[in-house]
Amino acid sequence: AAGAFRFDNSYARLPERFFARVEAAKPPAPSLLRLNEALAVELGLDPVWLAGPDGVAALSGLASPPGAEPIAMAYAGHQFGGFSPQLGDGRALLLGEIVAPDGLRRDIQLKGSGQTPFSRRGDGRAALGPVLRELIVAEAMHALGVPTTRSLAAVLTGDLVHRETPLPGAVLTRVARSHVRFGTFEYFAAREDDDALRTLTDYVVARHYPDLAGAEFPAAALLEAVVGRTASLVAQWQGVGFIHGVMNTDNMSIVGETIDYGPCAFMDVYHPATVFSSIDAQGRYAYGNQPRIALWNLARLAQALLPLMGEGDAAVARAQAALDGYPARFEAGWLGVFRAKLGLATAGDGDAALIQDFLTLLAETEADFTNAFRALADAAEGGGEPLAAQVPAQARLDPWLAAWRERLAREVVEPAARAASMRRANPWVIPRNHRVEAALASAGEGDLAPLDALRAVLAAPCEAQPEAEAYRAPPRPEEEVRATFC
Ligand code: AMP
Ligand code: MG
Ligand code: MG
Repeated sequence: AAGAFRFDNSYARLPERFFARVEAAKPPAPSLLRLNEALAVELGLDPVWLAGPDGVAALSGLASPPGAEPIAMAYAGHQFGGFSPQLGDGRALLLGEIVAPDGLRRDIQLKGSGQTPFSRRGDGRAALGPVLRELIVAEAMHALGVPTTRSLAAVLTGDLVHRETPLPGAVLTRVARSHVRFGTFEYFAAREDDDALRTLTDYVVARHYPDLAGAEFPAAALLEAVVGRTASLVAQWQGVGFIHGVMNTDNMSIVGETIDYGPCAFMDVYHPATVFSSIDAQGRYAYGNQPRIALWNLARLAQALLPLMGEGDAAVARAQAALDGYPARFEAGWLGVFRAKLGLATAGDGDAALIQDFLTLLAETEADFTNAFRALADAAEGGGEPLAAQVPAQARLDPWLAAWRERLAREVVEPAARAASMRRANPWVIPRNHRVEAALASAGEGDLAPLDALRAVLAAPCEAQPEAEAYRAPPRPEEEVRATFC
C-alpha cells in the first residue's frame, strides 16, 4: 500500500528462540489520539497514511501492516538487584524495522498491544496515562538532546484496562535504534546458550557497532563500546536532572538510548537522594545513584558476555579492563556536561570541585535545579539578581560566584556568547512532574489541550518562551508529585 511502512526485519530472521511470534490483540474501537508528524517525516513515513484507516489499524494492532512480522522479544534482567531469567516483551510487539532516510535502521514497536508468552500475570495492556507520559517525556528528552527512544503515536483502543480503577486502554508506537537490552544477553547467558550469545553479539555488532567487527574479541570490544555509550548517557541524564526510576538491566539499551519511561521524573529541587518511583522504596535508583548503578548493570552485561571473551582468567581480565574504563568515561562525560552548564569552554584543574560546590550550594538551599542553572546564564552576562533569587543564601553564593568569575576570566569569551552557549546547555523548561500529571489528568477527561500546550513548550526547551512562564514554575507544595507509577 502506498505510504505504508517499508519493513526490512532483521531481528525476525534470527533463530526462533530469540522471540515469540505473536499477533496483537484486536482493539474494539481504535482511534488515533496523537501522531508525531515531525518524527514520521524524519523517519520517511507518510503522516497522511499513518493517520488514515490503514495507519491507525497498524498503530493499534487491529491489522498487521504489510511486511510486518510481529514478535515479542525474549530477554531476562536484574530487577532491583535480583535476577529474573525470563522477562521478555510482555506487553509489547516489535512490528518490524525500517531504514530511515538518515540510513539508520529503526525498530517500530507497539506497547500495550496485548498478551504474549512473556506476559506472566500481566494483561499485556497499557493505560492512557502512562502512554501519554512516555509520549511527552521521550520527546522532551529528544528535544533536550539526550539519546532516547522516540514516540511516534498514541492510539486509544476503545476499551478499558483494569488497574486500581478502570482506565482507558491505549497503545504507544515506540521507535528505537534497538530494543536489545543488557537483559537480552543475560537471557542466553542464563541458559548457557553460547551459540545464541555469539549470534546476538554478531547481530548487535553488525547492526550497531560495525567498526568492531574485526576485533579479536568482538564481545570485549562491544562491552567497551557499551560502557562508553552508557557512561555518556547517564552523564546527560545527570545534566538535565532526569531520574529514570527503573534502571533494571532489562531497561538498559545496548545502544545507549534512554528506554522504558515508567516511573521516571525530572527533579525540581536539587538533591542527590531524590527518588520518585513508587516501587523504589530503598532509593536504589535515586538521582545520585544512577552513575554507579549503570556500572553495576554493565558488570551484569560483562558477566553475560564472558563466555565469548576467551579462556578463564584472560576472559575475566578483558571484561574487567572494559569495566575499569567506566569511571573515567563517566567523569569525562559528566565534566563535559557540567562545564557547559557553567559556561566553561575549556578544561581546568579545579573544575570538578567548582561544579560540585555549586551543586552542594543548590542542595543546601533547596534550590530548583533547572531554574538555578538557567539563572547562572544570566549571571554570566553580569546580572546576578535572577541567580540570587534561585539560590537564596547570598553569603554562601558570593564566594562561589567570585571563584566562578575568576575561572571564567581565564577564558577569552565574550559574555554574551558565553551566556548564549550556557542557555543551550541549561534548559529554560523541562517536563515538570506536576505539569505532566495535570496534562495526563485532563487527557483522561477528554481534554487534550493541556497536553498539546505542554508538548509545544517542550519542543524547544532551551528557548525562552515568555508566554509560557508558568511551565517553569516549580510546584507549589500542594502540587508536588512525590511518587510516579509505571
Ligand atoms: P518494566 O517494569 O516496564 O520494565 O517491565 C518489566 C517486565 O514486565 C517486562 O517483561 C514487561 O513486558 C512486563 N510487563 C510490564 N507490564 C506488563 C503488563 N501490563 N502485562 C504484561 N507484562 C507486563
Ligand atoms: Mg522494561
Ligand atoms: Mg515499562
